[in-house]
Amino acid sequence: MKIALITGASSGIGDATAKAFADAGYKVLAVGRNADRLDAVAAHAPDRIVPVKRDLTGPDVCKELIDYAVREYGQLDVLVNNAGIISRTTVEDTTDEDWRQTMTVNLDVPFYLSRAAVPHLRKTKGRIINVASDWGLRGGEKAAAYCASKGGLVLLTKAMAHDHAAEGITVNAVCPGDVVTPMLEKEAADQGLSHAEALETWKAEVPTGRLTEASEVAAMILYLASDVAAQVTGTAMVIDGGGSA
Ligand code: NAD
Repeated sequence: MKIALITGASSGIGDATAKAFADAGYKVLAVGRNADRLDAVAAHAPDRIVPVKRDLTGPDVCKELIDYAVREYGQLDVLVNNAGIISRTTVEDTTDEDWRQTMTVNLDVPFYLSRAAVPHLRKTKGRIINVASDWGLRGGEKAAAYCASKGGLVLLTKAMAHDHAAEGITVNAVCPGDVVTPMLEKEAADQGLSHAEALETWKAEVPTGRLTEASEVAAMILYLASDVAAQVTGTAMVIDGGGSA
């Protein structure tokens, strides 16, 4: 059975991805900070989804997490770097703490986890899928630290794809536009909008006339992890209803 480790699995895209991988037959290590929410995700497939409570903030916890996965389950096939945070601020309004925290969660942690995972993924010809953003490919209003971190994540993806292609490891990014998850509620609040008001405004900007569902992003991640995607590496795959077209 293939082993997939998914960060930020207690909500939104991570929750949907953990369930999609479990339904596809993977053993899923669902990593997050909130034990109750992780248990709720694991209840979807208790024999397939293992809740793993961790606050991912430094190199040691990331290395320990990968070591734990391989020690307990014997191998690692897929790493999904999904955990992420956003603050809707301009550079002037971004505090040192917000900048550092955004870089830590969105860029440093994927680097730490990837570094620890590569020796194991080499053995399984495994996959890394980074959840970046359409704002890792273009700028967005009042999201300076977020855009910088996701742009960095896209190019970390491409650089790693070069380095590990000959070893059979693929490294890809998915770049969603607005996805209906708790993150959008925070974004609305940061901008002084009600959740409903924000959803209507953002929806109007999407050519398909609706926002992306977390399950649709999960399906893209599942494809990138699958055997038929072996020739796909170094890509930053957009899913945004045509928003960036
Ligand atoms: P979300 O807020 O529902 O989920 C984010 C997850 O990351 C949560 O489970 C949270 O606990 C986890 N997390 C944050 N900091 C962590 C830490 N220090 N340690 C461990 N876990 C931590 O949001 P989401 O929309 O599901 O976001 C998932 C990913 O998708 C993020 O990387 C986000 O940037 C990206 N994304 C989201 C959207 C969107 O519109 N929702 C668009 C583009 C990209």
